[in-house]
Order: sequence, then C-alpha cells, then structure tokens
Amino acid sequence: MSEMLTEKAARGPSPRARSGPRGRVIIFGMWCKGCRLCVEFCPTGVLAFVEGQEQPSVVHPEKCTACHWCDTHCPDLAISVQHID
Ligand code: SF4
Ligand code: SF4
Repeated sequence: MSEMLTEKAARGPSPRARSGPRGRVIIFGMWCKGCRLCVEFCPTGVLAFVEGQEQPSVVHPEKCTACHWCDTHCPDLAISVQHID
C-alpha cells in the first residue's frame, strides 16, 4: 500500500486535477498553412508538429489553459479554442 502511494506521489498531480481555465483546441485543416505561429506562441506546449505532418497537432490537450495566444495569432483563423470549464 505504501509503495502504491509513493509511486503516485512520484508521478505528481494528475493533469485533470489542475485548477484554472481549460480549453479545447480545434484546428481547421482546410485553412491551416502550417506556418507554426500557434506552436511558437503556445506557452504550455499543447501544440507541436509531428514528424511528417504539415500541420500542427494537439499533442498535450490537458495542458491548454484557454489563453487564446494561438487563435489570436493565427493569420488564417485556422485554429479555435473553446472554454470547457
Ligand atoms: S498559426 Fe494557423 S495557419 Fe499557422 S500553423 Fe497554426 S493553425 Fe496553421
Ligand atoms: S489556448 Fe493557449 S494554452 Fe491553449 S493551445 Fe492555445 S496558446 Fe496553448
């Protein structure tokens, strides 16, 4: 039992336990030209380019704070963030 507690403590708090606003990111593939601005502006590393892909992927959705840095900087309105709580 104590071993299980120790393992859980070592992993740290679960991402879902994070307080504060959360967002759901949607990328509109038809409009995205792959300029990378959203990836560069995201302060929490939600977005990244997966090797071989020409558009960003949402690689860490649990880290989105709904700050809107990505969608306010996209020149093509190709990314949108919805507040989910
Ligand atoms: S900023 Fe917009 S166009 Fe550029 S990669 Fe991100 S979603 Fe695509
Ligand atoms: S809303 Fe903020 S945290 Fe969420 S993906 Fe966009 S830049 Fe990153």
